[in-house]
Amino acid sequence: MKKILLLGSTGSIGVNSLNVIRNFPEEFSVSVLTVNKNIELLQKQIEEFHPQTVVVVDENKAGELRSNLKGNCNVLSGKDALCKIASQLDYDILLGAVVGFSGLAPTIEAIKRGKRIALANKETLVVAGELVTRLAQEYNAEIIPVDSEHSAIFQCLVGEKKDQVEKLIITASGGPFLNTDKEKFSSVTVKEALNHPNWNMGNKITIDSATMMNKGLEVIEARWMFGFKAENVDVLIHPQSIIHSMIQFVDGSIKAQLGYPDMRLPIQFALTYPKRFKNDMERTDFPKLNQLTFYKPDYEKYTCLGLAFQVLADGGTAPCILNAANEVAVNRFLKEEMKFSDIPILVEKALNKFENHSTPDIETIFECDRLTRDYVLNLEA
Ligand code: NDP
Ligand code: MG
Repeated sequence: MKKILLLGSTGSIGVNSLNVIRNFPEEFSVSVLTVNKNIELLQKQIEEFHPQTVVVVDENKAGELRSNLKGNCNVLSGKDALCKIASQLDYDILLGAVVGFSGLAPTIEAIKRGKRIALANKETLVVAGELVTRLAQEYNAEIIPVDSEHSAIFQCLVGEKKDQVEKLIITASGGPFLNTDKEKFSSVTVKEALNHPNWNMGNKITIDSATMMNKGLEVIEARWMFGFKAENVDVLIHPQSIIHSMIQFVDGSIKAQLGYPDMRLPIQFALTYPKRFKNDMERTDFPKLNQLTFYKPDYEKYTCLGLAFQVLADGGTAPCILNAANEVAVNRFLKEEMKFSDIPILVEKALNKFENHSTPDIETIFECDRLTRDYVLNLEA
């Protein structure tokens, strides 16, 4: 029986993870759940999965939950609680499903204990890829991807020699604005940007998909997860999201992983690897698929994608600046404080503002994140 610490249990990945765990009660148990403030859903999850400990980052909401709870679940609160549980409690797998920079610190704590990391929180590898992968090697901690593209590549790489792979091909749906002219980007609404054609995800990643920053973050994530250089990573628009990504070998042969878009599969694989467990998810019905189409990404239109390749080449703290600026800009767009088309402008301004520090340590990364957030919070496009 593997014990799971689930960071971000009330989010889109969190809920899907519990849907997977529910199907294998002999194999997995939940030891810890964490949320930011959604105590209503957390309370239902506690009643079903009986974790020994939960974290509610918001102190007021944690107090409310304590007074509502019967039974003996320990409720912790505050920002430092995520690191505390990751570094002290008993578990086998940390499933990282929080959104944004807040996933970094607890993931590092789990790595230092040599735990398996099932990683959905791509921002961890974006902001500190070099540091995190170095620590994972040092402490012998496996990082298994949950992000569907990376899970696809990971599955394709099983049994293969890395030096015989010449290219990773990361597919992208193109998001809700694939057929929208860039001129319209200044007037798109939050509702339109949140209307993703294929995936039902949290708000932040859904906006990132609309700007294609998400694909840029995934290219950086792939660089660190698999150790391939940026020039060996291609992005390919594939609007149906059936091919989740591919690898191309030195002889031109290509291996792909396919299936309907459903995050339960990569989550399950990250928990069960190297085994595969039978499930009753819908099987792909090829004759019903009609056609699979592919396009080159338009870098003029999706400025964020080019910025991500640029920070990957620059290295150092540049990806951390890009990520922090993007998180703040997306949040401000969601609050209707600024236009959709301002997101890449603010990110670029932040990149131009701050000096790049090469091979940053963890303190430098935290400081860089904080300074960038402060700068972008009131920045005009
Ligand atoms: P959601 O916004 O749906 O969920 C985020 C979760 O994290 C919630 O449980 C939320 O709690 C919690 N949370 C939010 N902010 C904080 C914080 N500051 N401190 C602690 N906890 C916090 O996100 P998703 O599930 O969509 O995405 C999670 C991660 O997985 C992201 O990094 C995303 O890029 C990645 N990912 C997601 C995919 C998807 O299909 N959704 C696909 C591939 C990757 P509360 O509910 O209380 O606010
Ligand atoms: Mg993805």
